[in-house]
Amino acid sequence: DVVQNAPCAEFADVEALEMFAAEVDVITYEFENVPASAALVLAARKPVLPEHKILETTQDRLAEKDFVTKLGIGTAAYADVTSPQMLHEAVARIGLPAVLKTRRFGYDGKGQIMLRPGDDLDAAWHRLETRAAILEAFVPFEREVSVIAARSADGQVVCYDLTENEHRDHILKTSHVPANVPESVATEARRIATSIATALGYVGVLGVEMFVVPENGQPKVLVNEIAPRVHNSGHWTLDGASVSQFEQHIRAIAGWPLAQPLRHGDVTMTNLIGDDVHDYISWLTKPGATVHLYGKRLAMPGRKMGHVTVVSQPKKS
Ligand code: AMP
Repeated sequence: DVVQNAPCAEFADVEALEMFAAEVDVITYEFENVPASAALVLAARKPVLPEHKILETTQDRLAEKDFVTKLGIGTAAYADVTSPQMLHEAVARIGLPAVLKTRRFGYDGKGQIMLRPGDDLDAAWHRLETRAAILEAFVPFEREVSVIAARSADGQVVCYDLTENEHRDHILKTSHVPANVPESVATEARRIATSIATALGYVGVLGVEMFVVPENGQPKVLVNEIAPRVHNSGHWTLDGASVSQFEQHIRAIAGWPLAQPLRHGDVTMTNLIGDDVHDYISWLTKPGATVHLYGKRLAMPGRKMGHVTVVSQPKKS
């Protein structure tokens, strides 16, 4: 058995949290919007890794961008926005196009509005239905990439190879490894992820999403978002690497040595989103493919229903 006991309760149910903590040695999560209050109850009883205070930084887009900026790492230009007037001021400073995002609880493009020249800013502000937002300059990126990194309690950081990601309707559709970038960009992306993991005092696996932007012929790497958990763009490691991001995470929080994962070839991971899942049969016979279905009943639009990894031998140049 992998799971012997799977209690299910509300985050606000302190008694259930206490019972849960009493039965385990270490606590972790695969979802970053765990309320800080629930994480605090657990942390008083057992180690919670990554530490709950890291959630406070990564749950809030403004705190996260301030944190990254203080490390000297680039992001899109951004501004704190808490009123229509501040939105007008932010647009005057940052310019358009830009993306207005809620500070908290946004994912897969939810809680985001793209603003273009001529758009009604007051209407956009009211449509977002929040009092705490940030405005980000739209980044004319060449590619989106991510680093899946693991940090152990003694400070060692191990990164997987840089992954290149394509989104459809703001949702990750495919990841390719290795990313099609010069080695200098991959090295810089790993340096950025390592410095973020170290500065957070992180223990476990994290994903750092980045933009690669062309700049005077020399591509530049900007951080988009930090995911304090195993990440969808690292699902390829299940079939494409000697140790997956999931095992690596458990090793890190259990205090075991981190693996030095080897990649089995060029890898493409394709998410089966909504109705895509009905076509899973056609993937079964594709050379090098492994199909993962999550067993969710309803194939709602935008819902991640499974994914397929295809491993192939690197093309000879
Ligand atoms: P996020 O939820 O912030 O990760 O945004 C989801 C996706 O929207 C990103 O992966 C990008 O494809 C796109 N996006 C978000 N913010 C920006 C931005 N400032 N400039 C360009 N594209 C963006």
